[in-house]
Amino acid sequence: MASEIAGVHDDRVSGRARCLQCGSYATQRFARVFGDNDNNLYACLECTTMRALRNGEGVCAD
Ligand SMILES: [Zn+2]
Repeated sequence: MASEIAGVHDDRVSGRARCLQCGSYATQRFARVFGDNDNNLYACLECTTMRALRNGEGVCAD
């Protein structure tokens, strides 16, 4: 039996979060700090700046 490959949109099991904007991987900790309450990350350092993330860009893509 072939084992199923983990879904690309939900990597929580592997302890990684994924940027919903550019698809880059970030740590769960990063997602918790800069993402929304559900650890959804809408921006990361690959696609935006730390300044923008601090302004809440990782919570809601705008
Ligand atoms: Zn990104």
